Amino acid sequence: MRFNELNLSKDLLRAIEDMGFEKPSEVQEATIPHILKGSDILAQAQTGTGKTASFGIPMVEKIQDKQSKAPQGLVLVPTRELARQVTEELKKLAKYKKFIRVVAIYGGADMGKQLSQLKSGASIVVGTPGRIMDHMKRRSLQLDRLDFLVLDEADEMFDMGFRDDMKTIIEKTNPNRQTLFFSATFDNNIKGFSKFYQDKPQKVIIEKKELTAEKIHQYYLELNRNMKTEILNRLLLMHRASKSIIFCNTKRMVDSLEVEMAQKGYQVASLHGDMRQSSRDQVMKKFRDGSIDLLIATDVAARGLDISDIDLVFNYDLPQQSEYYVHRIGRTARAGKKGISFTFVTNKDYDKFREIEDYANIKMDRMGLPTKKDVEKE
Ligand code: ADP
Ligand code: MG
Repeated sequence: MRFNELNLSKDLLRAIEDMGFEKPSEVQEATIPHILKGSDILAQAQTGTGKTASFGIPMVEKIQDKQSKAPQGLVLVPTRELARQVTEELKKLAKYKKFIRVVAIYGGADMGKQLSQLKSGASIVVGTPGRIMDHMKRRSLQLDRLDFLVLDEADEMFDMGFRDDMKTIIEKTNPNRQTLFFSATFDNNIKGFSKFYQDKPQKVIIEKKELTAEKIHQYYLELNRNMKTEILNRLLLMHRASKSIIFCNTKRMVDSLEVEMAQKGYQVASLHGDMRQSSRDQVMKKFRDGSIDLLIATDVAARGLDISDIDLVFNYDLPQQSEYYVHRIGRTARAGKKGISFTFVTNKDYDKFREIEDYANIKMDRMGLPTKKDVEKE
Protein backbone atom coordinates (compact mmCIF):
# COMPACT_ATOMS: atom_id res chain seq x y z
CA MET A 1 0.00 0.00 0.00
CA ARG A 2 1.09 3.58 -0.63
CA PHE A 3 0.35 6.74 1.33
CA ASN A 4 -1.68 8.16 -1.54
CA GLU A 5 -4.13 5.28 -1.21
CA LEU A 6 -5.05 6.40 2.31
CA ASN A 7 -7.28 9.32 1.27
CA LEU A 8 -5.03 11.94 2.74
CA SER A 9 -4.99 15.60 1.76
CA LYS A 10 -2.18 17.08 -0.32
CA ASP A 11 -0.88 18.89 2.76
CA LEU A 12 -0.26 15.63 4.55
CA LEU A 13 1.09 13.76 1.54
CA ARG A 14 3.63 16.51 0.90
CA ALA A 15 4.72 16.56 4.52
CA ILE A 16 5.10 12.78 4.58
CA GLU A 17 7.14 12.95 1.40
CA ASP A 18 9.38 15.62 2.91
CA MET A 19 9.99 13.31 5.84
CA GLY A 20 11.26 10.68 3.43
CA PHE A 21 8.65 8.05 4.22
CA GLU A 22 8.06 5.99 1.10
CA LYS A 23 5.22 3.79 2.19
CA PRO A 24 3.18 3.22 5.34
CA SER A 25 4.58 0.77 7.85
CA GLU A 26 2.48 -2.22 8.84
CA VAL A 27 0.99 -0.59 11.91
CA GLN A 28 0.31 2.61 9.98
CA GLU A 29 -1.49 0.71 7.25
CA ALA A 30 -3.58 -1.13 9.85
CA THR A 31 -4.55 1.88 11.96
CA ILE A 32 -4.70 5.05 9.86
CA PRO A 33 -7.86 4.16 7.87
CA HIS A 34 -9.76 3.33 11.07
CA ILE A 35 -8.68 6.51 12.82
CA LEU A 36 -9.64 8.56 9.79
CA LYS A 37 -13.09 6.97 9.93
CA GLY A 38 -13.45 7.89 13.60
CA SER A 39 -12.81 4.59 15.39
CA ASP A 40 -11.06 4.20 18.69
CA ILE A 41 -7.88 2.16 18.38
CA LEU A 42 -6.07 -0.28 20.61
CA ALA A 43 -2.79 -0.99 18.85
CA GLN A 44 0.18 -3.08 19.75
CA ALA A 45 3.41 -3.07 17.78
CA GLN A 46 6.98 -3.34 18.82
CA THR A 47 9.31 -0.40 19.18
CA GLY A 48 10.48 1.24 15.99
CA THR A 49 7.50 0.29 13.87
CA GLY A 50 6.21 3.82 13.34
CA LYS A 51 3.50 4.17 15.95
CA THR A 52 3.93 7.94 16.24
CA ALA A 53 2.87 8.60 12.67
CA SER A 54 0.08 6.03 13.04
CA PHE A 55 -1.80 8.45 15.24
CA GLY A 56 0.04 11.60 14.07
CA ILE A 57 -0.99 11.42 10.43
CA PRO A 58 -4.76 10.99 10.94
CA MET A 59 -4.83 13.41 13.87
CA VAL A 60 -3.09 16.17 11.94
CA GLU A 61 -5.29 15.39 8.95
CA LYS A 62 -8.51 15.64 10.93
CA ILE A 63 -7.77 18.73 12.97
CA GLN A 64 -9.64 21.44 11.10
CA ASP A 65 -10.60 24.09 13.63
CA LYS A 66 -8.38 27.09 12.96
CA GLN A 67 -9.97 29.37 15.57
CA SER A 68 -9.99 27.33 18.75
CA LYS A 69 -7.27 28.01 21.27
CA ALA A 70 -8.18 25.00 23.38
CA PRO A 71 -6.33 21.79 22.52
CA GLN A 72 -8.00 19.49 20.02
CA GLY A 73 -5.46 16.73 20.51
CA LEU A 74 -3.65 15.46 23.60
CA VAL A 75 -0.84 12.91 23.45
CA LEU A 76 0.30 11.44 26.76
CA VAL A 77 3.81 10.01 26.74
CA PRO A 78 5.92 8.50 29.51
CA THR A 79 9.10 10.59 29.29
CA ARG A 80 10.43 14.05 28.45
CA GLU A 81 12.52 12.63 25.63
CA LEU A 82 9.46 11.13 24.05
CA ALA A 83 7.48 14.32 24.54
CA ARG A 84 10.17 16.15 22.57
CA GLN A 85 10.46 13.46 19.91
CA VAL A 86 6.73 13.12 19.33
CA THR A 87 6.32 16.90 19.24
CA GLU A 88 9.00 17.16 16.55
CA GLU A 89 7.39 14.44 14.45
CA LEU A 90 3.94 16.03 14.73
CA LYS A 91 5.35 19.41 13.76
CA LYS A 92 6.84 17.88 10.65
CA LEU A 93 3.52 16.26 9.78
CA ALA A 94 1.77 19.62 10.25
CA LYS A 95 4.33 21.47 8.13
CA TYR A 96 1.72 22.46 5.53
CA LYS A 97 -1.10 23.03 7.98
CA LYS A 98 0.39 26.10 9.54
CA PHE A 99 -2.53 26.79 11.86
CA ILE A 100 -1.78 23.64 13.85
CA ARG A 101 0.37 24.41 16.83
CA VAL A 102 2.07 21.58 18.65
CA VAL A 103 3.22 22.24 22.20
CA ALA A 104 5.36 20.01 24.41
CA ILE A 105 4.58 19.98 28.12
CA TYR A 106 6.94 18.14 30.41
CA GLY A 107 8.52 18.42 33.81
CA GLY A 108 11.86 20.06 34.41
CA ALA A 109 11.21 22.59 31.64
CA ASP A 110 10.38 26.27 31.99
CA MET A 111 6.87 26.62 33.38
CA GLY A 112 6.54 30.24 32.27
CA LYS A 113 7.21 29.37 28.66
CA GLN A 114 4.71 26.52 28.75
CA LEU A 115 2.09 28.79 30.28
CA SER A 116 2.48 31.39 27.57
CA GLN A 117 2.48 28.76 24.82
CA LEU A 118 -0.75 27.29 26.16
CA LYS A 119 -2.27 30.71 26.53
CA SER A 120 -1.60 31.75 22.97
CA GLY A 121 -3.22 28.52 21.76
CA ALA A 122 -2.16 24.92 21.26
CA SER A 123 -3.94 22.62 18.82
CA ILE A 124 -2.03 19.57 19.98
CA VAL A 125 -0.45 19.13 23.38
CA VAL A 126 2.15 16.41 23.88
CA GLY A 127 3.12 15.81 27.45
CA THR A 128 4.00 13.68 30.41
CA PRO A 129 1.13 12.96 32.82
CA GLY A 130 2.68 14.74 35.83
CA ARG A 131 3.19 18.08 34.17
CA ILE A 132 -0.12 17.87 32.33
CA MET A 133 -1.80 17.46 35.73
CA ASP A 134 0.04 20.53 37.04
CA HIS A 135 -1.34 22.62 34.23
CA MET A 136 -4.83 21.26 34.70
CA LYS A 137 -4.72 22.22 38.37
CA ARG A 138 -3.57 25.73 37.46
CA ARG A 139 -6.37 25.82 34.90
CA SER A 140 -3.85 26.69 32.24
CA LEU A 141 -4.91 23.57 30.36
CA GLN A 142 -8.50 22.58 29.71
CA LEU A 143 -9.37 19.40 27.95
CA ASP A 144 -13.12 19.61 27.53
CA ARG A 145 -12.88 20.35 23.81
CA LEU A 146 -10.54 17.52 23.00
CA ASP A 147 -11.22 15.54 19.81
CA PHE A 148 -8.27 13.15 20.16
CA LEU A 149 -6.75 11.54 23.18
CA VAL A 150 -3.67 9.41 22.59
CA LEU A 151 -1.85 7.23 25.07
CA ASP A 152 1.52 6.63 23.46
CA GLU A 153 3.77 3.89 24.83
CA ALA A 154 0.92 3.13 27.23
CA ASP A 155 2.66 0.11 28.78
CA GLU A 156 5.59 2.27 29.81
CA MET A 157 3.32 4.84 31.39
CA PHE A 158 1.78 2.13 33.56
CA ASP A 159 5.22 0.79 34.43
CA MET A 160 6.27 4.26 35.50
CA GLY A 161 3.37 4.58 37.90
CA PHE A 162 1.25 7.09 35.96
CA ARG A 163 -1.91 5.04 36.24
CA ASP A 164 -3.77 7.37 38.60
CA ASP A 165 -2.64 10.51 36.81
CA MET A 166 -3.74 9.03 33.52
CA LYS A 167 -7.16 8.23 34.97
CA THR A 168 -7.58 11.73 36.35
CA ILE A 169 -6.58 13.28 33.06
CA ILE A 170 -8.76 11.06 30.89
CA GLU A 171 -11.78 11.68 33.08
CA LYS A 172 -11.45 15.42 32.56
CA THR A 173 -11.49 15.16 28.79
CA ASN A 174 -14.39 15.57 26.42
CA PRO A 175 -16.28 12.26 26.56
CA ASN A 176 -16.95 12.41 22.82
CA ARG A 177 -13.28 12.33 21.98
CA GLN A 178 -11.63 9.68 19.85
CA THR A 179 -9.41 7.54 22.07
CA LEU A 180 -6.25 5.95 20.70
CA PHE A 181 -4.00 3.61 22.67
CA PHE A 182 -0.58 2.61 21.37
CA SER A 183 1.72 0.23 23.13
CA ALA A 184 4.54 -2.24 22.59
CA THR A 185 2.73 -4.82 24.76
CA PHE A 186 -0.78 -5.38 26.05
CA ASP A 187 -1.34 -6.08 29.70
CA ASN A 188 -4.31 -6.01 32.03
CA ASN A 189 -3.85 -2.33 32.78
CA ILE A 190 -4.23 -1.39 29.17
CA LYS A 191 -7.08 -3.80 28.63
CA GLY A 192 -8.82 -2.37 31.69
CA PHE A 193 -8.37 1.18 30.47
CA SER A 194 -9.59 0.14 27.06
CA LYS A 195 -12.80 -1.35 28.47
CA PHE A 196 -13.37 1.73 30.55
CA TYR A 197 -12.38 4.54 28.26
CA GLN A 198 -12.76 3.31 24.72
CA ASP A 199 -15.80 2.86 22.57
CA LYS A 200 -15.71 -0.32 20.47
CA PRO A 201 -12.01 0.03 19.77
CA GLN A 202 -10.52 -1.45 16.67
CA LYS A 203 -7.85 -3.84 17.89
CA VAL A 204 -4.66 -3.94 15.91
CA ILE A 205 -1.81 -6.22 16.73
CA ILE A 206 1.32 -6.34 14.68
CA GLU A 207 3.22 -9.48 15.45
CA LYS A 208 6.81 -9.21 16.38
CA LYS A 209 9.07 -9.95 13.48
CA GLU A 210 10.28 -13.12 15.18
CA LEU A 211 6.71 -14.35 15.20
CA THR A 212 6.22 -14.62 11.48
CA ALA A 213 4.99 -17.88 10.08
CA GLU A 214 8.33 -18.75 8.49
CA LYS A 215 9.98 -19.00 11.87
CA ILE A 216 7.27 -20.67 13.90
CA HIS A 217 5.39 -23.51 12.37
CA GLN A 218 2.00 -23.22 13.98
CA TYR A 219 -0.12 -26.37 14.03
CA TYR A 220 -3.48 -27.09 15.55
CA LEU A 221 -4.99 -30.45 16.39
CA GLU A 222 -8.67 -31.20 16.88
CA LEU A 223 -9.19 -33.64 19.69
CA ASN A 224 -11.31 -34.71 22.61
CA ARG A 225 -10.40 -33.42 26.01
CA ASN A 226 -9.53 -36.86 27.33
CA MET A 227 -6.99 -37.42 24.54
CA LYS A 228 -4.89 -34.35 25.29
CA THR A 229 -2.26 -35.93 27.50
CA GLU A 230 -1.76 -38.93 25.25
CA ILE A 231 -1.42 -36.76 22.15
CA LEU A 232 0.98 -34.51 23.99
CA ASN A 233 3.06 -37.54 24.87
CA ARG A 234 3.08 -38.77 21.27
CA LEU A 235 4.09 -35.40 19.87
CA LEU A 236 6.92 -35.13 22.37
CA LEU A 237 8.17 -38.60 21.48
CA MET A 238 7.97 -37.89 17.76
CA HIS A 239 9.89 -34.66 18.01
CA ARG A 240 12.46 -35.75 20.57
CA ALA A 241 12.34 -32.21 21.84
CA SER A 242 14.87 -31.18 24.42
CA LYS A 243 13.00 -28.21 25.80
CA SER A 244 9.28 -27.63 25.63
CA ILE A 245 6.74 -25.47 27.37
CA ILE A 246 3.17 -26.58 27.90
CA PHE A 247 0.57 -23.98 28.68
CA CYS A 248 -2.54 -24.71 30.69
CA ASN A 249 -5.21 -22.26 31.73
CA THR A 250 -5.44 -23.12 35.41
CA LYS A 251 -3.11 -23.88 38.25
CA ARG A 252 -5.05 -27.09 38.89
CA MET A 253 -4.51 -28.30 35.37
CA VAL A 254 -0.81 -27.44 35.64
CA ASP A 255 -0.48 -29.47 38.82
CA SER A 256 -2.31 -32.53 37.57
CA LEU A 257 -0.50 -32.55 34.24
CA GLU A 258 2.81 -32.28 36.04
CA VAL A 259 2.01 -35.47 37.94
CA GLU A 260 0.87 -37.29 34.79
CA MET A 261 3.94 -36.34 32.80
CA ALA A 262 6.28 -37.22 35.64
CA GLN A 263 4.64 -40.66 35.75
CA LYS A 264 5.43 -41.05 32.07
CA GLY A 265 9.08 -40.50 32.88
CA TYR A 266 9.61 -36.89 31.83
CA GLN A 267 11.83 -34.48 33.72
CA VAL A 268 9.16 -31.95 34.45
CA ALA A 269 8.47 -28.91 36.57
CA SER A 270 5.71 -26.40 36.82
CA LEU A 271 5.39 -22.67 37.10
CA HIS A 272 2.35 -20.76 38.27
CA GLY A 273 1.39 -17.54 39.92
CA ASP A 274 1.12 -18.86 43.47
CA MET A 275 4.73 -19.92 43.66
CA ARG A 276 7.24 -17.83 45.51
CA GLN A 277 9.82 -15.99 43.48
CA SER A 278 12.64 -18.13 44.87
CA SER A 279 11.04 -21.38 43.73
CA ARG A 280 10.23 -19.87 40.37
CA ASP A 281 13.86 -18.87 39.96
CA GLN A 282 14.95 -22.38 40.84
CA VAL A 283 12.63 -23.94 38.28
CA MET A 284 13.83 -21.54 35.62
CA LYS A 285 17.45 -22.31 36.41
CA LYS A 286 16.82 -26.04 36.01
CA PHE A 287 14.95 -25.48 32.78
CA ARG A 288 17.77 -23.36 31.41
CA ASP A 289 20.55 -25.77 32.32
CA GLY A 290 18.63 -28.73 30.88
CA SER A 291 17.92 -30.71 34.03
CA ILE A 292 14.23 -30.26 33.20
CA ASP A 293 12.83 -30.94 29.71
CA LEU A 294 9.26 -29.92 30.22
CA LEU A 295 7.93 -26.82 31.79
CA ILE A 296 4.21 -26.72 32.49
CA ALA A 297 2.96 -23.22 33.09
CA THR A 298 0.07 -20.84 33.34
CA ASP A 299 0.10 -17.54 31.47
CA VAL A 300 0.69 -15.55 34.61
CA ALA A 301 3.96 -17.33 35.21
CA ALA A 302 5.09 -17.22 31.63
CA ARG A 303 5.06 -13.51 31.03
CA GLY A 304 8.38 -12.07 30.12
CA LEU A 305 10.26 -15.35 30.35
CA ASP A 306 13.40 -15.07 28.37
CA ILE A 307 14.60 -18.51 27.45
CA SER A 308 16.36 -18.74 24.18
CA ASP A 309 16.18 -22.30 22.93
CA ILE A 310 12.70 -23.72 23.36
CA ASP A 311 11.83 -26.26 20.69
CA LEU A 312 8.13 -26.78 21.15
CA VAL A 313 5.31 -24.78 22.64
CA PHE A 314 2.04 -26.53 23.42
CA ASN A 315 -1.25 -24.86 24.01
CA TYR A 316 -2.65 -27.75 26.00
CA ASP A 317 -5.55 -25.48 26.82
CA LEU A 318 -6.55 -22.86 24.29
CA PRO A 319 -5.74 -19.44 25.76
CA GLN A 320 -8.77 -17.58 27.07
CA GLN A 321 -7.45 -14.30 25.79
CA SER A 322 -6.23 -14.09 22.24
CA GLU A 323 -3.16 -12.02 22.99
CA TYR A 324 -1.82 -14.78 25.19
CA TYR A 325 -1.57 -16.97 22.15
CA VAL A 326 0.98 -14.58 20.73
CA HIS A 327 2.84 -14.39 24.04
CA ARG A 328 2.87 -18.14 24.42
CA ILE A 329 4.16 -19.08 21.01
CA GLY A 330 6.62 -16.20 21.18
CA ARG A 331 8.54 -18.34 23.68
CA THR A 332 9.89 -20.34 20.78
CA ALA A 333 11.81 -19.33 17.66
CA ARG A 334 13.68 -16.64 19.49
CA ALA A 335 16.89 -15.15 18.20
CA GLY A 336 16.34 -16.30 14.66
CA LYS A 337 15.79 -19.99 15.42
CA LYS A 338 12.94 -22.09 14.14
CA GLY A 339 10.18 -23.25 16.42
CA ILE A 340 7.01 -25.26 16.40
CA SER A 341 3.78 -24.70 18.26
CA PHE A 342 0.90 -27.13 18.74
CA THR A 343 -2.49 -25.87 19.75
CA PHE A 344 -5.08 -28.29 21.07
CA VAL A 345 -8.60 -27.45 20.00
CA THR A 346 -11.67 -29.22 21.38
CA ASN A 347 -15.23 -28.89 20.11
CA LYS A 348 -16.15 -26.16 22.49
CA ASP A 349 -12.97 -24.17 21.69
CA TYR A 350 -13.84 -23.60 18.09
CA ASP A 351 -15.13 -20.02 18.23
CA LYS A 352 -12.26 -18.95 20.40
CA PHE A 353 -9.85 -20.64 18.03
CA ARG A 354 -11.14 -18.59 15.09
CA GLU A 355 -10.95 -15.46 17.19
CA ILE A 356 -7.30 -16.16 17.93
CA GLU A 357 -6.51 -16.68 14.27
CA ASP A 358 -8.16 -13.36 13.43
CA TYR A 359 -6.48 -11.55 16.25
CA ALA A 360 -3.00 -12.83 15.50
CA ASN A 361 -3.68 -12.58 11.79
CA ILE A 362 -2.43 -16.08 11.08
CA LYS A 363 -3.74 -19.40 9.82
CA MET A 364 -2.59 -22.41 11.77
CA ASP A 365 -1.97 -25.64 9.87
CA ARG A 366 -4.27 -28.48 10.79
CA MET A 367 -2.43 -31.60 11.86
CA GLY A 368 -4.06 -35.01 12.08
CA LEU A 369 -3.72 -36.81 15.39
CA PRO A 370 -0.50 -38.83 15.52
CA THR A 371 -1.06 -42.54 16.07
CA LYS A 372 1.04 -44.93 18.10
CA LYS A 373 2.50 -46.17 14.82
CA ASP A 374 3.62 -42.64 13.92
CA VAL A 375 5.55 -42.56 17.15
CA GLU A 376 7.28 -45.87 16.43
CA LYS A 377 8.31 -44.76 12.95
CA GLU A 378 10.28 -41.84 14.32
P1 ADP B 1 7.56 3.47 17.57
O1 ADP B 1 6.77 4.54 18.27
O2 ADP B 1 6.69 2.38 17.02
O3 ADP B 1 8.67 2.95 18.41
P2 ADP B 1 8.41 5.63 15.86
O4 ADP B 1 7.10 6.23 15.57
O5 ADP B 1 9.26 6.32 16.86
O6 ADP B 1 8.26 4.10 16.28
O7 ADP B 1 9.19 5.48 14.47
C1 ADP B 1 10.49 4.94 14.38
C2 ADP B 1 11.27 5.62 13.25
O8 ADP B 1 10.75 5.24 12.00
C3 ADP B 1 11.21 7.13 13.31
O9 ADP B 1 12.47 7.64 13.00
C4 ADP B 1 10.22 7.48 12.23
O10 ADP B 1 10.44 8.77 11.71
C5 ADP B 1 10.44 6.41 11.21
N1 ADP B 1 9.24 6.08 10.40
C6 ADP B 1 7.96 6.05 10.82
N2 ADP B 1 7.12 5.71 9.81
C7 ADP B 1 7.90 5.50 8.73
C8 ADP B 1 7.62 5.11 7.36
N3 ADP B 1 6.38 4.87 6.93
N4 ADP B 1 8.68 5.01 6.51
C9 ADP B 1 9.94 5.25 6.95
N5 ADP B 1 10.26 5.62 8.20
C10 ADP B 1 9.26 5.74 9.09
MG1 MG C 1 6.66 5.36 20.01
